[in-house]
Amino acid sequence: MELIIDNLSKTYSNGVKALQDVSLEIPTGMFGLLGPNGAGKSTLMRTIATLQEADKGTISLDGIDALKQKNEVRQILGYLPQQFGLYPRMSAEVLLNHFAVLKGISNKKERKELVKALLYKTNLYEVRKQNLSGYSGGMKQRFGIAQALLNNPKLLIVDEPTAGLDPLERNRFYNVLSELGENTIVILSTHIVEDVKELCTNMAIINQGQVLLKGNPREIIDGLEGKVYQKTIAKLELENYKSNYQVISERLFHGKPIIHILSDTNPGNGFSPIDADLEDVYFSQIFGIAANPKSIV
Ligand code: ADP
Repeated sequence: MELIIDNLSKTYSNGVKALQDVSLEIPTGMFGLLGPNGAGKSTLMRTIATLQEADKGTISLDGIDALKQKNEVRQILGYLPQQFGLYPRMSAEVLLNHFAVLKGISNKKERKELVKALLYKTNLYEVRKQNLSGYSGGMKQRFGIAQALLNNPKLLIVDEPTAGLDPLERNRFYNVLSELGENTIVILSTHIVEDVKELCTNMAIINQGQVLLKGNPREIIDGLEGKVYQKTIAKLELENYKSNYQVISERLFHGKPIIHILSDTNPGNGFSPIDADLEDVYFSQIFGIAANPKSIV
């Protein structure tokens, strides 16, 4: 199974170019669509999910023209939008059963089995009788996945699913998702680098509606190997370092900034070489910094 997006473009009526000639080839497995807020991720997700139109370009899913054959796509699609409403005074079990009825699963026994299996799969079986109003953010997201899986989708789209989840909940969510990727195309859109690092076999970085980089995370990271250096500096020195080096990230450790820079050669001056990480790739792409641009595209 493969989803092929070719030269997809979308400009909103206010002039915002949300997608500009986006081309991606997405095979079975987990695909991470990484980009900052406003990059165009939701626009792309909603277009693939047949919920909005593109201006130009094509989307093909194993021969199905996804922009035209919307009903065919919807039959094999599961979609977890960024925000979704739930009926707070219902239990997960009752609501999931209700959604299953709406999806046309009319055999009661079959429906009961399916609801039970999905509650187990999403780790909600123990709390199935609780009202959704008492669920944590992570539990709600896992319920969202359960409902998106009701029709056994071949293509599952999850839009920013881990935003606002604490680390433990995020991990539980990762565990549920990672079990799905084997026979399904799972597209995960996120601005959290860790989501992609933990889960995805393929990825793309997008910003301002454009694909900046795509491929396998390991190979993408290898492209920066030997070019990332780090140093702990004093806070007051930060601006100075920023004007003299290609600083790709800064974070505090015990109150002191640690900076990562990109450099083709060892910069000396107390910098030490480190293994490149996906964050280094991400920030260098988003900020348009490159030691040697040709080597990482
Ligand atoms: P992301 O999901 O990566 O945060 P979006 O696809 O939501 O990005 O948005 C991409 C750009 O399009 C943003 O600049 C956003 O403000 C704009 N945008 C999104 N939806 C609309 C809309 N319905 N009308 C006008 N502009 C929009």
